[in-house]
Amino acid sequence: SVKQHQVIIIGAGAAGLMCALTAGYRGRDVLLLDNAKQLGRKILISGGGRCNFTNQNIEPGAYLCSNPHFVKSALARFSQWDFIAMVERHGIDYHEKTLGQLFCDGSAKDIVDMLTTECDWAGVKIQLRTEILSVAATDDGYSLQTSEGEYRCESLVIATGGLSMPKLGATPFGFRIAEQFAIKVLPTTAGLVPFTLQPEDKARFEGLSGISLPVIAQAECGRQFREAMLFTHRGLSGPAVLQISSYWQPGQSVRFDLLPDLDFVDWCKTITAESPKLSLKNGLSRLLPKRLVERLLELGELPNKNLNQLSKADVAALDSYFHCWQIQPGGTEGYRTAEVTLGGVDTDELSSKTMEAKRHPGLYFIGEVVDVSGWLGGYNFQWAWSSGYAAGEVV
Ligand code: FAD
Repeated sequence: SVKQHQVIIIGAGAAGLMCALTAGYRGRDVLLLDNAKQLGRKILISGGGRCNFTNQNIEPGAYLCSNPHFVKSALARFSQWDFIAMVERHGIDYHEKTLGQLFCDGSAKDIVDMLTTECDWAGVKIQLRTEILSVAATDDGYSLQTSEGEYRCESLVIATGGLSMPKLGATPFGFRIAEQFAIKVLPTTAGLVPFTLQPEDKARFEGLSGISLPVIAQAECGRQFREAMLFTHRGLSGPAVLQISSYWQPGQSVRFDLLPDLDFVDWCKTITAESPKLSLKNGLSRLLPKRLVERLLELGELPNKNLNQLSKADVAALDSYFHCWQIQPGGTEGYRTAEVTLGGVDTDELSSKTMEAKRHPGLYFIGEVVDVSGWLGGYNFQWAWSSGYAAGEVV
């Protein structure tokens, strides 16, 4: 027998849960389906298990999307403050870690529990372990063939996320549905992802893994991030690298300022006056991790001299070396470790107010499946909450 619901949402992740509870409170009969055994798995492991659930500084400029205006309406109608208010109503303690990033004091499970409790209060039915075999349009909505039988609904919401972390159940389902309905999907790539190095650089930085330092990373498009960079066994990571990776194209270089804010020429003058016989190595080790300085000396990239032996030209060369340290990454680690998927369902195809497909009434796309990706730091969950709410108000 065919089971009928007013609203069916596919994907019980961040966006799907928010959409479901919002629609449920409006009195809509909502069924939330997922093929996984457990809901909200990405929420559970996010932010190192503490879930960076939003950011105090949410603004449209922190999102990558082919239409930069698209996010404005949804972010304004369900903002970070609305989500924070929900977190506070549930008595969940949280703190700001850095740069406006809000994390649970306890665990990410608090956020999943909050959302499932709200879904329960709103009368949402949640059904896990359900494979969606096919979707078709009907005269008055949509029909789904699933491993648990046939379902019909007036409104169908696709909230199946992007391609990052296939281990956590990421599938291209949402993109396939869009293509089935001739909705344009913009090419997808891994975002917020570590860089791998070209073989020469890999050899150059052998043994530096674990070293972290504050930098300003700049992509060729001019976008900059001031955060930490981390050397790893495979390449470069750390928040500065993850952020800039979303603005990087294969073949491009990334420029790092390894001594942000330091007037190197001035610093050289001062320290040389104080300790003229100090080696450059020991002088630089006051500014940078010692192991990094030693390695750069070994490589012959820095002169093996005392400070008072440095010529004006040496100082100028060092100044530009540290402020414009350039790397051409070999690639990225890809979806295996990426936090987000760039690209996705073209926002030109969707209403920015409701997330409804312009040419397919009753069909909605929310969350990461849409061509919207945020910076590191709670921006992606906020997009999931905001876009989920926008659809939840109208489905
Ligand atoms: P998801 O949360 O991915 O949910 C999609 C759901 O759809 C899943 O439950 C999945 O099982 C289900 N699904 C998929 N395919 C099918 C199918 N074929 N049939 C049925 N169901 C299906 N963002 C932040 O803002 N802060 C963070 O701290 C943060 N940490 C992260 C850490 C990691 C390791 C990763 C990978 C991401 C992190 N992100 C973080 C990004 C954030 O998790 C995502 O942007 C967000 O979860 C997207 O929400 P969504 O609901 O669109 O998709």
